[in-house]
Amino acid sequence: MVSRVIPVDTFDLVIFGGTGDLARRKILPGLFRRFQSGQMPEDSRIIGAARADLDDAGYRAVVKGALEEFIEKGDRPTNVVKEFLEAIHYVQIDATGSAGWPELSKLLRAGVVRAFYFSVAPSLFGALAERLHEYKCAGESCRIVVEKPFGRDLESARALNKTLRDHFDENQIYRIDHYLGKETVQNLMAVRFGNVLFEPLWNAQYVDHVQITVAETVGVNGRADYYDKSGAMRDMVQNHLMQLLCLIAMEPPSRFDPDAVRDEKLKVIRALEPVEPSDIVRGQYASEKKGESYLDQVGSDSITETFIAMKLQVSNWRWAGVPFYLRTGKCLKARASEIAIVFKDAPHSIFGQELGHHRNILSIRLQPNEGITLRVTIKEPGPGGMRLVDVPLDMSFKDALGPDADVAPEAYERLIMDVIRGNQTLFMRGDEVEAAWAWTDPLIESWTERGDRPKPYDIGSTGPEDAAVLMHREGRRWREIKA
Ligand code: NAD
Repeated sequence: MVSRVIPVDTFDLVIFGGTGDLARRKILPGLFRRFQSGQMPEDSRIIGAARADLDDAGYRAVVKGALEEFIEKGDRPTNVVKEFLEAIHYVQIDATGSAGWPELSKLLRAGVVRAFYFSVAPSLFGALAERLHEYKCAGESCRIVVEKPFGRDLESARALNKTLRDHFDENQIYRIDHYLGKETVQNLMAVRFGNVLFEPLWNAQYVDHVQITVAETVGVNGRADYYDKSGAMRDMVQNHLMQLLCLIAMEPPSRFDPDAVRDEKLKVIRALEPVEPSDIVRGQYASEKKGESYLDQVGSDSITETFIAMKLQVSNWRWAGVPFYLRTGKCLKARASEIAIVFKDAPHSIFGQELGHHRNILSIRLQPNEGITLRVTIKEPGPGGMRLVDVPLDMSFKDALGPDADVAPEAYERLIMDVIRGNQTLFMRGDEVEAAWAWTDPLIESWTERGDRPKPYDIGSTGPEDAAVLMHREGRRWREIKA
């Protein structure tokens, strides 16, 4: 079964920061794949806008280089690359001055969808927003896309929201959290709200606890300065893990429309209890080898965490007493992201205790191998009498839908197409971001004030021992981190 590709309307997409790392690694390859699939109309245009002194031909060479670097050779036929490059244009621009703006304004067409991707440092957002209006590039129906980090605390997020809202309506602002663009994350909503099977069990009566893990194997390589001002809480928990938690914990929205979904997510964030210091474990990767530890890499006696594990409570009727355990870190054992809903034991075992301890677990893998698995207990096949084993009911998309299905556009390409379609469901609303910071700020302040030093953990491990204790003390354990 091959899924349908529905072309979007013709567009002009301007990528501010079009020569930067994010544009080269994610945005341009993503657009190429959508072009190749037939979703991007051929008369659409991608306009790179950056400081580099380039013309169209020079920027096409940059784009071609990015495709060669980030897309497998077999996946980019020469003729398709050639056609795609014809849609590419360039304007040398200064976000803070006047250079390039009249040219950009002239280049933009009337009557097509107009979108501006702010793939530049957030300090330039205000200048870009102002100039887009000053030079009449922005129209009522244009959209802007902004990247993380969206502020570093509540105050800066509010200021950023104000800057953007001074020039654009909330329904024109697309705040990207690429975790929301993952196929499995949307499937999580389909599984929850499209089946009668799960929703009745989705509450404190049947769920023992929820685990959300986002584990990386990489360290801060080359980004030490940026990362040290941020840390795992700001870089991962406040945005990505919080968004995943919201999708698990939210009430069914009345409709699958942007504001209905985001209203429900916002209620979850507002229902989060403050977290006790004893329910948070912060870690920092360490190594005996010179140059490998975080402290060597940042070159200071930093107390920034590269790992965090915490226990949260959502205080409402549905989730009263159900802990949500979040865990994320760098330099861990494997690159793996997973949400696991661990259900309670059956109320009474007719098979007796000796047959072991079995629990249903619904696991939603975000990477690698996106997919959903439900662990169920069955009788072990064979003549050995009634022995129970747990087996996975595997809903791996590729297996279910066939190898040719267009099932796995990467998060970025899906989200960019949503911008063109004008669908904000998978983008964070300003009040959501602010609520998440309002919950995050006091936690960061409290450990900063106390000068809490993160616990060291070995590179390639599962984090500090205390993270395991956080679970063990309540008779639970983390799921294995495996690729
Ligand atoms: P980068 O430093 O590689 O590129 C910056 C781009 O901005 C360049 O194209 C540069 O020409 C342009 N630029 C800088 N000053 C300008 C000015 N005054 N006028 C016009 N253009 C100017 O940055 P990046 O890594 O691509 O990141 C871009 C944004 O995306 C940042 O906000 C970053 O936090 C965010 N982000 C990046 C990644 C990533 O993987 N790189 C991931 C998530 C979020």
